[in-house]
Amino acid sequence: EPAIRIDNLVKRYAPAKGAKGTMTQGKLALGGVSFDVPQGSIFGLLGPNGAGKSTLINILAGLVNKTSGSAEIWGFDIDRQRRNASRSIGIVPQEIVFDPFFTPYEVLENQAGFYGIAARLRRSEELLEAVRLSDKRDAYARTLSGGMKRRLLVAKAMVHSPPILVLDEPTAGVDVDLRRQLWELVSELNRDGVTVVLTTHYLEEAEELCDRIAIINHGQLIANKPTRELVDMA
Ligand code: ADP
Ligand code: ADP
Repeated sequence: EPAIRIDNLVKRYAPAKGAKGTMTQGKLALGGVSFDVPQGSIFGLLGPNGAGKSTLINILAGLVNKTSGSAEIWGFDIDRQRRNASRSIGIVPQEIVFDPFFTPYEVLENQAGFYGIAARLRRSEELLEAVRLSDKRDAYARTLSGGMKRRLLVAKAMVHSPPILVLDEPTAGVDVDLRRQLWELVSELNRDGVTVVLTTHYLEEAEELCDRIAIINHGQLIANKPTRELVDMA
């Protein structure tokens, strides 16, 4: 059984009302995409801006409604078994989003509260250690560096111990050192058994980190291969 199964997924955004009430045709962001993410892999979804990567991630996250097709996360249908599907996935968004006056510890405790995790089952300290933020436990989030904030986002996504972690453009606009740091963190989590999906428009990132790469362009899947085969072709 794959970690994620995507079957003929279509997303057409609602048409926008133009001038004088004329309707423009809705934007076809995903034109029938199918692929499986194998358990235990680091799976790269590679494609240029506008390809449909975020749309796909947002559908898995339950933030965007699909037009048609289906998807399963850890065997749970994203519509019929939404709650279990959501609990099986942790999402690291592109944008850094937490209250600037919360501390890393509070960010994780709040997230645990959101999932209804009992105090004795929480593992905020352990997660802070995993992302090397133990020494910033009680600092305001706004005082953290960009790299620390991104690591905190990863910890936040892991609060409910999902078997799958999805990162949307984790290293967009990030310097070389921080990129290395994030790659290392992702590899570590994968070694601990977490299946990882990441979107990127950097081929080098996908090559370095991923054991399988799917290429998406204009809402169509144009390749889906083990990284080695893909690189041999190029
Ligand atoms: P990527 O993440 O690969 O850059 P997106 O999924 O963000 O691509 O976008 C795919 C296409 O859908 C683009 O043409 C984009 O302009 C369009 N799009 C994305 N979000 C919306 C939206 N909320 N409404 C209308 N069109 C959208
Ligand atoms: P461990 O056996 O390493 O203490 P758990 O049994 O608590 O881990 O792990 C449950 C889930 O937590 C794992 O399947 C994985 O998704 C996640 N996980 C494991 N190790 C880490 C880590 N170092 N940082 C973040 N999440 C982790």
